[in-house]
Amino acid sequence: MEENCELVYDGKAILAEGPSWDEPTQKLLWVDILGEKIHRFDPKTKHNETIKTGQKVGAAVTWTDNCVVAAMEHGFYKIQLEDGSQTALVDPEPTVTGNRFNDGKCDPAGRFWAGTMDMEEKQPTGSLYTLERDGTVTRKTGEITVSNGLAWSPDQQTMYHIDSPTRTVYAWAYDLDTGKITHRRVVKVIPEEEGFPDGMTVDSEGMLWVALWDGWKVIRIDPSGRRLREVKVPAARVTSCCFGGKERDELYITTATVGIEEESLKEQPNAGGLFRIKPGVQGLPTDRYNGGIY
Ligand code: CA
Repeated sequence: MEENCELVYDGKAILAEGPSWDEPTQKLLWVDILGEKIHRFDPKTKHNETIKTGQKVGAAVTWTDNCVVAAMEHGFYKIQLEDGSQTALVDPEPTVTGNRFNDGKCDPAGRFWAGTMDMEEKQPTGSLYTLERDGTVTRKTGEITVSNGLAWSPDQQTMYHIDSPTRTVYAWAYDLDTGKITHRRVVKVIPEEEGFPDGMTVDSEGMLWVALWDGWKVIRIDPSGRRLREVKVPAARVTSCCFGGKERDELYITTATVGIEEESLKEQPNAGGLFRIKPGVQGLPTDRYNGGIY
């Protein structure tokens, strides 16, 4: 079954990424990694707030109503949304120069997980870290080229993760209490002609929605990798997705313009925008960072 989505915000982002729905404020937080911006979109008013970060920002998650934690080129930062003021928290890779943070998300216990990547997307120099609730950092795993697509199953027993250049969606056994991940297995390798798996989310039925970079779509698969549905997106570089809206029944989709030839951009004039579809299933609540305000 093929379905289409609608444009909700023509943001013309370079690399829109990391959408997350904040339940208390009913707003969508997203970033433009290469545009060095954090955005917060209010679907009710269509107003989009923008905060400049001054460095590449891989992901941002809500901490309090007016404050986020961002995983950036130089580590984790606390950023106030009213004035954009920043406090550096911790940099897990102070001596690595070729990496930056990429995708990140909070787990159901409120730890902030974020992975790094080789900025040239060639070497497996990336690692996956957690910013713990006490502000310390733990390295969870390494040997990643482009860390992407974190999601947790509704029963909180499984964590999903993507390493994009290998085109692989992985599942880990996940322990909610300790944040430990073990027993990695392959869920699905995306066929070459469909592009690269990028961001991902889970719905309340435990199915995965995977954004396909250069694939013009988001696919829904089950935990064994079986394809169930696909949503066509009028942009080639589909980067990520998350559920939002009052009933959490709207799938928000981010896209990118980076690296697309001008000629090809004419065929996808809304690339870099935010899209949405009501797929008839609900998502899980997005978890905020649960750190004490330190
Ligand atoms: Ca990504």
